[in-house]
Amino acid sequence: MPIRPAIIGNWKMNGSGKEVKLVSRFADFLDKHKIAADVMICPPATLIGRAGGAIKGSKLKIGAQNCHVAASGAYTGDVSASMLKDAGAKAVIVGHSERRAGYDETDKQVRQKAQAVIEQGLQSIICVGETRQQFNKGQTLQVVGRQLRGSIPSSATPQSTLIAYEPVWAIGSGRTPKPADILRTHAHLRKTLLKLHPKEGAKFKILYGGSVSAANASDILALENVNGALVGGASLSFKDFTTILRSV
Ligand code: PEP
Repeated sequence: MPIRPAIIGNWKMNGSGKEVKLVSRFADFLDKHKIAADVMICPPATLIGRAGGAIKGSKLKIGAQNCHVAASGAYTGDVSASMLKDAGAKAVIVGHSERRAGYDETDKQVRQKAQAVIEQGLQSIICVGETRQQFNKGQTLQVVGRQLRGSIPSSATPQSTLIAYEPVWAIGSGRTPKPADILRTHAHLRKTLLKLHPKEGAKFKILYGGSVSAANASDILALENVNGALVGGASLSFKDFTTILRSV
């Protein structure tokens, strides 16, 4: 059975009330066009409720970008997976490199977050990726393999968990790895998933993320073991994101 691709927009810390209209436009587009992919937008937490309310009944899903490990408690400024679920999120990105680097998130913390997300019945989108320096030293496979093994909970299933390979140096830079490099890294992630989950490893979605654009999406999405894309900047543009969706 071929894997149904997923295209997920990560808005990062961008967007206010007026951008809810853009989410509605994506929902209308999905309802009018036959797109062979699961599509999700992850806006800032402040917009999850409003965005979800605006697109009720649509094929478009709303996700979140991070959560706390705990369900509730004295964690000023944080939100839990159950709160995100309550707000209408269907998935949570965990271990994005901007959080691994900016907040010193470890594989263990990422795994605990993914576990908290899965326990709420939401999907966890676990990000892995090497830095430019690690890429230059030829350490990509070693780094992403270690991150994946350390970040994926043993309870993860292809339904509950997606993996996103995002080279740190490709994010927001307009640069992407060569197709052969993406192929090799995704093949390694698949092999690692098969070792961890011999029965279901072949079914996990492995997304590529990092400067996916209207211009390069069809080439990247055509690569073996690339089962979709995590899209940052281009998901804030109606034209760019819908071009990416059409290229699935
Ligand atoms: C991201 O940060 O998840 C991302 C993929 O960003 P961009 O597409 O802007 O490189």
